Amino acid sequence: MSPQFKNEPALDFSVEANRRKFALALESVQKHLEGGRYCAMPIISGAEIATTRSVKSIDPSEVDCILGQVQFASPDHVDQTLHVLSTEGRRWQLTPWQDRIAIIRKAASLISQRRLELAALIVREVGKPWREADADVTEAIDFCNYYSAEAELAAHPRELMQIPGENNIYFYKPRGLAAVIAPWNFPLAIACGMTVASLICGNPTILKPAEQSSLVAFKFAHILLESGVPPYAFAFLPGYGEEIGAQLVSDPRVSLICFTGSKAVGLEILKTSSQVLPNQSLIKRAIVELGGKNCIIVDEDADLDEAIKGVLYSAFGYSGQKCSACSRVVAVGAIYKPFLERLREAASDIIIGKAKDPATFVGPVIDSEAQQRINAVIERADHECVLHYKTDSLPTGGCFVAPTIYRDVSLSSSIWKEEIFGPVLACRHAASFDEALSVANDSQYALTGGLYSRSPGNIRRAYSELEAGNIYINRGCTGALVCRQPFGGYKLSGVGSKAGGPDYLLQFMEPVVVTENTMRRGFAPDQV
Ligand code: NAD
Repeated sequence: MSPQFKNEPALDFSVEANRRKFALALESVQKHLEGGRYCAMPIISGAEIATTRSVKSIDPSEVDCILGQVQFASPDHVDQTLHVLSTEGRRWQLTPWQDRIAIIRKAASLISQRRLELAALIVREVGKPWREADADVTEAIDFCNYYSAEAELAAHPRELMQIPGENNIYFYKPRGLAAVIAPWNFPLAIACGMTVASLICGNPTILKPAEQSSLVAFKFAHILLESGVPPYAFAFLPGYGEEIGAQLVSDPRVSLICFTGSKAVGLEILKTSSQVLPNQSLIKRAIVELGGKNCIIVDEDADLDEAIKGVLYSAFGYSGQKCSACSRVVAVGAIYKPFLERLREAASDIIIGKAKDPATFVGPVIDSEAQQRINAVIERADHECVLHYKTDSLPTGGCFVAPTIYRDVSLSSSIWKEEIFGPVLACRHAASFDEALSVANDSQYALTGGLYSRSPGNIRRAYSELEAGNIYINRGCTGALVCRQPFGGYKLSGVGSKAGGPDYLLQFMEPVVVTENTMRRGFAPDQV
């Protein structure tokens, strides 16, 4: 564990003064957007570049509300950026690590100073309720501080086995030009975590944010430059993933791709990045963090009060749009029926509303395209599966989707198998704990998994037998904290070391060993 690191505390919204502060921040965002002051555009060599491709950023809670205009980069902008960073960016690789760390620590402090403003913009741009928007910002601060502490540890060369006349040293060098391609669902935290990890290791870095969260990412890009990241070391390129994202992935000058997003895009990136073009002098490394189909097992002796609370929050928090979200539950033996009954009761108390309303538990989904896609999944499942709960009253005017629960879901059903990335939960029964484990593991994915149980034996078995990168016992399966729950999965949930964990930075560097023969022959006193 890194000695100098502490998680940034969450804002306590039960304190009235904090609620008031946050309401004021939301009012300020409202004034800014009414004044037409939100925009985003490419930043290349430190300069904002106006482009001819303007796209509206829309509040998913109120689709009539335009938050600002985003100007997307074109393929020419990508080319220009790659030229700058691949030539001038070498200077960043030679910048002393102490300076790089000081810059990223400064970024942490600027994010912290602008914490409320950033969280309020997250509420509006991606429809995150208050608490979750605040957590997005604290996680970004944590990534900056934690990777700074880890970079200090990694910066010191290590002595290897020494024998007389031979000096053996092991150290890390920056890997090279990096392209960071981020998702929208943690618009600040994930974009920030991947970008600062790359920068702190000395890599010139391009951030391509998700189309839907470009305003928040633009604020972050400015924070990096204000913190002292030189304009030749960092560029910001908002734009279409299939166009400029794909261009970054295939360009021979890019040596490292750090991607978080869907399985389909991640697998495509792995395929493309493994191809070596004729003018390419490196093998690319691709870190890809993908989706999940996360399952919580409710054991026969589980504490139902805890299990209901944990399942509900894990399944429907941020409308199920977390890669860690619980989308399957398997309940063992006689607890299945009472579990379902109490889950329905609890679900009927969920408050659905605009993300900016403080009481909202479930806000909108990200955009109308996602809303239509998820509603189509629900419509199909209504015919194929047993509907257990769905609210019949939804707010209007935004991209709202009803939290929906199915029971007795068959193992072959698509809602049991496919990631939906919305507020849809599939439940089924298992006759024994053995069966529950095998059903939970029957997935392409292995991201998060959970168990509610009072049985020490079953808990021990979950440690080793549940297939998930992050296993949670007797708590919900979302809400990983930097350094406490380093995060990432395996199987088709991705390849790479866990974000916010001790191995993460190593992926952004090359280990080098120098062996020096110290038994010099001859004497050259005039040489330095
Ligand atoms: P997405 O794959 O659609 O987009 C992610 C990013 O990739 C965006 O910036 C997008 O513009 C870009 N992109 C799209 N097509 C591309 C292409 N052909 N080449 C290069 N880049 C391209 O994913 P999303 O909708 O933004 O995010 C949701 C997904 O992300 C879910 O599957 C979720 O589980 C996953 N996710 C995983 C983690 C994790 O840590 N494992 C965390 C958050 C989200």
